[in-house]
Amino acid sequence: MLRRFMSYYRPYKRLFILDFSCAIAAALLELAFPLAVNRVVDQLLPAGNWSMILAACVGLLGIYLLSSFFHYAVTYWGHKLGINIESDMRRELFQRVQKQSFRFFDNNKTGHLVSRMTNDLMDIGEIAHHGPEDLFIALMTLAGAFGIMLGINWQLAVMTFIIVPLMIYLSLYFSRKMSKAFKRMFADIADYNARVENNVSGIRVVQAFANERHEVGRFVENNERFRLTKLITYRIMAWNSSLSFILMKFVSLFVLVCGTWFVIQGSMTYGEFIAFVMLSNVFLGPIEKINSVIETYPKGIAGFRRYLELLEAVPDVEDTSQAKPIPDVKGDIAFHNVTFSYGEHKPTLSQVNLDIQAGQTVALVGPSGGGKTTLCSLIPRFYDVDAGHISIDGIPVKDMTLESLRSHIGIVQQDIFLFDGTIRENIAYGKLNASDEEIWQAIRRAQLEELVQSQPDGLDTMIGERGVKLSGGQKQRLSIARMILKNPPILILDEATSALDTETEAAIQLALSELAQGRTTLVIAHRLATIRHADRIVVVENGTVAEQGSHEELLARQGSYSRLHQAQFG
Ligand code: ADP
Ligand code: MG
Repeated sequence: MLRRFMSYYRPYKRLFILDFSCAIAAALLELAFPLAVNRVVDQLLPAGNWSMILAACVGLLGIYLLSSFFHYAVTYWGHKLGINIESDMRRELFQRVQKQSFRFFDNNKTGHLVSRMTNDLMDIGEIAHHGPEDLFIALMTLAGAFGIMLGINWQLAVMTFIIVPLMIYLSLYFSRKMSKAFKRMFADIADYNARVENNVSGIRVVQAFANERHEVGRFVENNERFRLTKLITYRIMAWNSSLSFILMKFVSLFVLVCGTWFVIQGSMTYGEFIAFVMLSNVFLGPIEKINSVIETYPKGIAGFRRYLELLEAVPDVEDTSQAKPIPDVKGDIAFHNVTFSYGEHKPTLSQVNLDIQAGQTVALVGPSGGGKTTLCSLIPRFYDVDAGHISIDGIPVKDMTLESLRSHIGIVQQDIFLFDGTIRENIAYGKLNASDEEIWQAIRRAQLEELVQSQPDGLDTMIGERGVKLSGGQKQRLSIARMILKNPPILILDEATSALDTETEAAIQLALSELAQGRTTLVIAHRLATIRHADRIVVVENGTVAEQGSHEELLARQGSYSRLHQAQFG
């Protein structure tokens, strides 16, 4: 995992080396300072050479100035490095999530995903900003200070060093505890975000049912769990910092007492004593640093783990190894013994056989929950079949790249999703480089002209999140316009006109049947009147094709279709 983490540094080798060199220089200067003081006290002080002492102080000032420059460089470049790495990770994760399958999004909560793509990554950034070089510098300073302390007075140095294994033990102990705590905390944050997201996006339902109090109750539960997890985490942190604080103060006192003893004994000069006390502070600095790294490290690691989990989740629908881009299709569609289920339960579709010739219009009818939408979603491989196969122009859909396959299919989905943005942006989603002329043409064909013209902002009218500022019928027409612009050889209209009033529907039906000319079209419809003229009507019931034929043939059969017809027209 560390290797994986370090691989993100690769594009920034130069920056990293620069940052690292400055950090080393800063550490060296920090070690040089006590040695210089040692000189001043032991050699210049007894000689009483005031001008030399002043000169030495100017020298020390130089050391400080230089090291403050290095500190600036380390801080700025270190953060720059971290920010870059963070942004690379964000982009990589976003790209990856774009490719996830419908099943993945069925099973993951939006709020959880958002939380993992924002909050968790922020904490990885935290270690990327300073982690490796800080740790290295801390260890180097520690070793350097220890070396010099050994040179001054090895007995005292060794005694001081005893603190190190103690600190390491303490750190490891707390690090493990904190790792667990942070993992729990991230899960709680994700839950919290999911709850808030779900509530806000469903607020209209909440208020319509006057269930605000119930919602607050559920929120409080989540919030309380989050609070407790945070509390526990901070308690561990408090223990860690207070224990290391007392240990370090103990060492300082120890050095003071023992050092004084050595000076009285005459085995240590005043200069050495002062230098030793300063060095023991330099020595404790890195320990404190390591300790704080140990505080942020588990958090970053927990975030990084979750990041990798999400990044490395293999989409269950992907381009297969033999997939090729197919630039053009005629539009023959065939289902061969297709069986599919969403979960382990009984199959949603079983043994479906269906042959649709290019250019035909086929209507799917049947009871709600029968599997019509599911059947259509298998063609663009939103889900993969469990058994059997589906082909277009005789080519199995698995042998086409997802991008080319989906470029040939236009779907007006049952539950329409529109993006927060303008009418123009939403329609042009069907063809990203569409000209205004093309957009207007699509608008006219989708019977949207009147609406757009009545808006003061015209094409630039904002439609609100998910298109809340539009009526159901307007949303449907907008999604039809977007599909008209895409202009695919295969059309799937999943109850595309269910929300339209009869008059608009008649007009749209006209536009749609005109659009269907020369394309393979699958129409799912509840109102049988709208599909009477389809080339073929397929009744989907309990996940299978119950019967198929023309309107007249099916009526004559006196089967499911005729019963549905009877129910609607009496
Ligand atoms: P229709 O479009 O004919 O009304 P669907 O194809 O939408 O029917 O649904 C067929 C069955 O599959 C239903 O029982 C439904 O509960 C189930 N189903 C639909 N979508 C999902 C999904 N994403 N995950 C699990 N089950 C689903
Ligand atoms: Mg449906």
